[in-house]
Amino acid sequence: MQRRKSWRAGEIFLMASTALLAALLAGCGSQPHDLKPFEFIQPKMGTGFRIVIYAPAEGIAKRAADAAFARVDQLNATLSDYNPSSELSRLSLMTEQGPMTAPVNVGDDLWNVLVRSREASEQSHGAFDITVGPFVKLWRRSREMNALPTPERIEKTRASVGYDGLKLFPDRHSVQLLKSHMRLDVGGIAKGYTAMQCMAVIRGFGLTHAMVGAAGDLTVGDPPPGKAYWRVAVQDLAHPQGWPAAYVKLRNSSISTSGDTERFIIIDGVRYSHVIDPHTGLGLRRRIGVTVLSPDGTTSDWLTKPASVLGPEAGLALIDATPGAAGRVVIIDEDGTVKTYESKRWREFVVSGRD
Ligand code: ADP
Ligand code: MG
Repeated sequence: MQRRKSWRAGEIFLMASTALLAALLAGCGSQPHDLKPFEFIQPKMGTGFRIVIYAPAEGIAKRAADAAFARVDQLNATLSDYNPSSELSRLSLMTEQGPMTAPVNVGDDLWNVLVRSREASEQSHGAFDITVGPFVKLWRRSREMNALPTPERIEKTRASVGYDGLKLFPDRHSVQLLKSHMRLDVGGIAKGYTAMQCMAVIRGFGLTHAMVGAAGDLTVGDPPPGKAYWRVAVQDLAHPQGWPAAYVKLRNSSISTSGDTERFIIIDGVRYSHVIDPHTGLGLRRRIGVTVLSPDGTTSDWLTKPASVLGPEAGLALIDATPGAAGRVVIIDEDGTVKTYESKRWREFVVSGRD
């Protein structure tokens, strides 16, 4: 998971306004009368986590939000690739001396994320690849050095990438990594999983009218009292600071956006996104933004990556083939032309900005 070095107060607003989080808080009134919105924001996982809970009183809302934030900390301690002692990092480090010779047991969260990641890798034929970590490491190095890796370096690194090197043993929840210097990277799926887990924690307090946002990954529960849905703004890739490109209606559902508006590097005048094409080993050069919604936040998060890597046709076909999912892809050509593509079900979710 990526972590920014420092967190700035203004970032929340930036994230909130550009990355989907304009879910409306208005709309109390009817059933049940006594629920009021309470908002909680904390820097977590290198971004701002924002939780909104409708509750009868602040005390219970705060207890639920604190428990949800504690769950984020727990997941970060398990899944962060920046923290060398996380369970994920310790697993990757077992390949430093060569392929693992025997499987090791992992905890439930890591197991769940790896199972979903492996499915995502298979369904996307490796456009989403949970083992892309060594290439992500090269990308971060390029950012520091302001230079691309040499072709030789990319080829050498390729030997450590490929989800066929991740073997899962369901009977004992154990994992074996079959290549040297592997590095699992759950940055493309873990925030969606985490937002869903937070919502489950909040529901455990009997509070169902809530939302959890982690920058580009948002999960909502029941809508605000008196409303039929949460209205969520979708960022305009071409004008990230401007008006949203669209509004969608969501309830008990999730939405994720992945684009290069916030995280990219420019080397020799060429822009490379933080989304990596596992075939080239480099960040994507085309300017593409993908938004996916789904009843499941883990799904909406990972599904944005194949669409980014493979492009609109193949990406939207994968989204259409996923039950309950819908998506939108925006491409900005080199001459500045903006092209928009929508999945078959996307329009079912679009609402006006004035409702
Ligand atoms: P965020 O939710 O943090 O904004 P994204 O959902 O856009 O991030 O996912 C980008 C992250 O996914 C990258 O920082 C990297 O960790 C990981 N990643 C990049 N390319 C791939 C890929 N092809 N397959 C799987 N994960 C990827
Ligand atoms: Mg994401």
